[in-house]
Amino acid sequence: MAETNTKADYILGVDLGGTKILAGVFTHSLESLSTAKVSTKPQRGVEAVVERIARCVQDAVDEADLTLKQVAGIGIGAPGAVDFATGTVIFAPNLEGWKEVPLKKVLEKQLGVPVFVENDCNISALGVYVTELKSKPRHMVGIFVGTGIGSGLILNGELFSGAGHTAGEIGHMVLEVNGPKCGCGNKGCFEALASRTAIFQQIKAGIKDGQKTVLTDLLGNDLDDLRSGDLRKAIRRGDKFVDRVVEGAAEYIGIATANLVNILNPEVIVLGGGVIEALADEMMGVIVETAQDYAMAGSMRGVEIVASRLGDNAGITGGAVLARRETKRTGVA
Ligand SMILES: [Zn+2]
Repeated sequence: MAETNTKADYILGVDLGGTKILAGVFTHSLESLSTAKVSTKPQRGVEAVVERIARCVQDAVDEADLTLKQVAGIGIGAPGAVDFATGTVIFAPNLEGWKEVPLKKVLEKQLGVPVFVENDCNISALGVYVTELKSKPRHMVGIFVGTGIGSGLILNGELFSGAGHTAGEIGHMVLEVNGPKCGCGNKGCFEALASRTAIFQQIKAGIKDGQKTVLTDLLGNDLDDLRSGDLRKAIRRGDKFVDRVVEGAAEYIGIATANLVNILNPEVIVLGGGVIEALADEMMGVIVETAQDYAMAGSMRGVEIVASRLGDNAGITGGAVLARRETKRTGVA
């Protein structure tokens, strides 16, 4: 493959999401050189999405004035259960038709560069761990709050993915036995209570019940273009209703954090994802306070709870970290 390239000096990270694909070119010291973005369009089928990943990679490489020959490896985060050893996406609930997709094999053939695939939350946690925490803590949990909620576990300095590659599905930890229905079929899952989807649903339901909010002044009654950033704007304008909904979500994130601290006793819990990126100032205080209230006495001692600064770039950064680690290990770079 790339063995004959003596100048494969760069690495690539890709974040494959349900709505968009991000790719970023990095140096071996993880300095970002360029990024590219294309929409995923999962309804077009598996082959079309793979094609779009390849295009996004090409765009990012082109943007950095490089060619694929100068790329040592590509690390990809995919949303679902991934068998890292074979680079197969076993199942991705948000990507139509994605069952047993040999992503590594197909992309390597198409791009001629070594490809490594991991679960997206694992990859994001790895990106945060290596670049923000300098790989210092032995145990870290990354909680990512966006459309859904996922996590990545670093235990003893290594990613932990469980026996069947599905560990870390904290979004489906049940926090309210009689709570709202979740996409997985259960009731009261963490992500049915505190994800962006859950927050937006609560806001829309409140408006139907006659709640007054500045969001309708900003976006109209149906809130079609609602984004996490709009919630921040509303809260800063003194919107009590939006403030209450966001605070409620933050409390659930705090409870989930306490559960994870009780189970794993990590040194650091890092919060990331689009919701935290937009609302860190509004949510972090409540999250930390609630976690301290609910955690078992003594278990929170020395545990740091922080917001990631990587935001949307956690996935591509983690992809680059993975590619760097694996190309070194396999002796490609
Ligand atoms: Zn669920």
